[in-house]
Amino acid sequence: MKGKIAFIPGEHKIEFFEHEVPGPPAGGLIAEVTQTNVCGSEVHMWKGEFGGRHGVMPGHEMAGRIHALGDGVKTDWAGVPVKAGDRIAPVYYSVCNRCSNCVKGNQAACTNKAFGVRHPSEAPHFTATFATHYIVRANQNFYRIPDNVPDLIAASANCAMSQVYWGLDKASVRYGESLVVLGAGGLGLHAMAIAKARGAYVIAIDGVEHRLDEALKFGADATIDLRRFSSADARRRRVRELIGGGPDVVIEVAGVPEAFIDALELASIGGRVIEIGNISPALTAPIAPSRVTFKALEIIGVTMYPPNYLKKSLDFLAKHIDRFPYREMCDATFPLSKAAEALDRSERRELTRAALLPQQG
Ligand SMILES: [Zn+2]
Ligand SMILES: [Zn+2]
Repeated sequence: MKGKIAFIPGEHKIEFFEHEVPGPPAGGLIAEVTQTNVCGSEVHMWKGEFGGRHGVMPGHEMAGRIHALGDGVKTDWAGVPVKAGDRIAPVYYSVCNRCSNCVKGNQAACTNKAFGVRHPSEAPHFTATFATHYIVRANQNFYRIPDNVPDLIAASANCAMSQVYWGLDKASVRYGESLVVLGAGGLGLHAMAIAKARGAYVIAIDGVEHRLDEALKFGADATIDLRRFSSADARRRRVRELIGGGPDVVIEVAGVPEAFIDALELASIGGRVIEIGNISPALTAPIAPSRVTFKALEIIGVTMYPPNYLKKSLDFLAKHIDRFPYREMCDATFPLSKAAEALDRSERRELTRAALLPQQG
């Protein structure tokens, strides 16, 4: 049986490779990718911001169906029995559980994270999710998707959602606190829902109409439109008007360097800033480090998450599926062959979350 895998060799280019789908590794499995999302990282890849001259394999947010289980696999990583045909979501990397960070319990900062191969021609080929199939390796956490959570929704759990969940926990966002979310894309909407469910007051800031509308549905108590409040100072004053003081926490998920400057400005004295959105090494922002000093800010960088957070995310979805309109989160689907169009339209921010359905061509 042959499968297809996408590759981005450079800015705004995509290629497809065909390879024989290997058998399942002992302790792991082979999944059919039923849905894979265009995440912010894929848009950065598409713009040529990473991958460099070697190119990059896109795709890491997925939901899939177990095609074949490897020797010894009877349950997911939470002990739930699994069989061929079951729907699963994998963590898109594995951690070593042996490096000094893992040993201290900080697996999100594992120094030996493994992601798979760098090019579709390298065996075992299927290690990124813009593909018809995906290999879950023996040391890679995966979880059965709860029955009431459709693929459409589960697919973003293994990146966007788990990462903001971990970020909010790392910053201890709790009941009665206020949170400003910079950016109402996929990461932002997940952050709003989780923070709202635990009783925080949430303000969303974005400059796109339909994203601001979505924010209100995902738990934002108020929104600030960047087009109307175009200076950092105007936004700062508006936030203070809304909550009668500075916010306890600001989370940056807009993914542009200016948003980090905004986060430092918006944060209150003694506040916490969660930085998740900026992931392009070449993009920089001029900041006055003294802002951090004199405001006594706590800055919390978050990349990836401890693997068990995928389980927490799936459980959160199962519980809150009717409270927030998760079905609207993914607003366009494309076959794998139309990946370029999905990436282009995501780059132009016409869509909140585009998804590819690789089993449909
Ligand atoms: Zn480690
Ligand atoms: Zn992602």
